[in-house]
Amino acid sequence: AKEEGRGRYRMFEASMNARIQARRSLELDLRRAIARQEFELYYQPQVDARTGAFDGAEALIRWHHPVRGMVSPAEFIPIAEETGLIGNLGEWVLRTACTQALSWPEHLTVAVNLSPVQFRDGRLATTIRNILAETNFPPARLELEITEGSLLQNEQRTLVILRELRALGIRISMDDFGTGYSSLSYLRRFPFDKIKIDQSFVRRTPDDKESAAIVRAIAMLGASLGMKTTAEGVETDAQSSFITGEGCDQIQGYLISRPVPARQIEALFTRPEPV
Ligand code: C2E
Ligand code: CA
Ligand code: CA
Ligand code: CA
Repeated sequence: AKEEGRGRYRMFEASMNARIQARRSLELDLRRAIARQEFELYYQPQVDARTGAFDGAEALIRWHHPVRGMVSPAEFIPIAEETGLIGNLGEWVLRTACTQALSWPEHLTVAVNLSPVQFRDGRLATTIRNILAETNFPPARLELEITEGSLLQNEQRTLVILRELRALGIRISMDDFGTGYSSLSYLRRFPFDKIKIDQSFVRRTPDDKESAAIVRAIAMLGASLGMKTTAEGVETDAQSSFITGEGCDQIQGYLISRPVPARQIEALFTRPEPV
């Protein structure tokens, strides 16, 4: 039994080593990926829940790895965060999103995800202001999506940066709302423009009573705090009509469209209205 245990341990060790190796090689590849232009932004439309009109789109990064093919952001964003590469990558995302959204109709916004690690850089607001100036993109058309993780790290510093950004006219959204521990207290401490209801709740509506009650409560909370509410991960007509009935302002999800490349979102946005 002792021998068996040792063998199992060696197997565990071997698979650990393999994972560490795989991660290291991904990290090395990540370092070269910006220069090699392996990243691309996809965009997922956000529509007005009541009218169905386009409000804008969220930028979602994609990595076309030369050997592995498409690598999910869920896999490489954490590595970019741990290695500090997220700084450069985050700037690339912002610059690219502002440049590409400039050719959309003027009333449409672009939403960009910010990593908590980007808030460790005290110059974040300055960097963003420079990118807006460089690309000539109107600050009022830019939304930044942040998660509770950004406020957990160093709340004071993050709030100072968020106020600077807001003073520039940029809108701030609280992403993945309802999944953290102190979501409610953050709403009290910072005037977010928008609350994005996490897809884990949206997905279970309208059948699951608890999820339906949570979505309803968040929609009411947003309305009374003067914040817009967006339901993300909307996949079915039943979810869409429930959510709209509860007074959510915006819908985002596969029901409207999957995230698509820049050229496709531009075509979707500039297509003449159907008669
Ligand atoms: P997120 O910000 O919560 O983005 C929403 C995710 O849900 C996206 O996954 C999107 O493709 C997916 N999604 C949208 N609608 C539906 C739906 O109806 N059903 C289902 N099942 N999924 C849906 P994606 O693109 O794989 O991104 C995953 C996460 O990676 C994002 O979650 C975000 O946290 C992060 N991420 C993506 N792009 C960036 C970026 O440019 N910067 C940073 N810092 N993080 C990013
Ligand atoms: Ca997001
Ligand atoms: Ca989200
Ligand atoms: Ca998420």
